[in-house]
Amino acid sequence: MQIEELTSYEFEELSKRIKGVILPVGSIEAHGPHLPLGTDLFTIYEICKRVIKRIEVFLAPPLYFGLCRSTRDIPGTLSLRGETLKSLLFDLLESFYRQGLRKFIILSGHAGGTHNAFIIDTAEQFIEKYPQTRFFVADIINLLKDTLKELGIPENDSHAGEWETSLILYLKNELVKPLDKAFEDYPAFPKYQVVPEKKLFWASGIWGNPLKATPEKGKIITEQLIIKLTELLSQFLSS
Ligand SMILES: [Zn+2]
Repeated sequence: MQIEELTSYEFEELSKRIKGVILPVGSIEAHGPHLPLGTDLFTIYEICKRVIKRIEVFLAPPLYFGLCRSTRDIPGTLSLRGETLKSLLFDLLESFYRQGLRKFIILSGHAGGTHNAFIIDTAEQFIEKYPQTRFFVADIINLLKDTLKELGIPENDSHAGEWETSLILYLKNELVKPLDKAFEDYPAFPKYQVVPEKKLFWASGIWGNPLKATPEKGKIITEQLIIKLTELLSQFLSS
């Protein structure tokens, strides 16, 4: 059930038995010359829409914005501060809570470490204030680890590379630009340093090899992720 498509009356009726809600979180972030800025949201949101056909849970309207550090200065990236992301999430969670929901599933298509840390910290603070709530928090790379290994996709392929390009080729094919513009690339940030001009060390937004991407791989990754999420979320919602 996508919340924004329900009437208030339908929501009231359904929320008597459904206590879980999925909030998809993305980012608006540079993904090379071949993928759209909304890639992180498109992947996780399309998968969530398929998962809710298999389990009874609300799907909230997605949060398009996240916190992007490394790609911050590449054209098109639009980032929130961590504090803003936390406040936004906290307000939404309180709103879900007020509507009787108690099990919160936050699935992020953006896997930045700082972004994820702010989401986890929000969940920690929320559960401290409302101890009767439960959280399931995961990002797409984490969920895909086994599948990518099985497909022989290297661990350092993490952004706009083989797996992410494959997913968009399968899920949002019309938004992929010709792959002859794409290329293999990796960031070269100096270790342990926080640098101001991030573009000097990573200008493309590609971290991996998009030239190895295919829609067939995207289909396998999508199907595996749907199976995995259906299983994990069924357990979470029934516990
Ligand atoms: Zn991405």
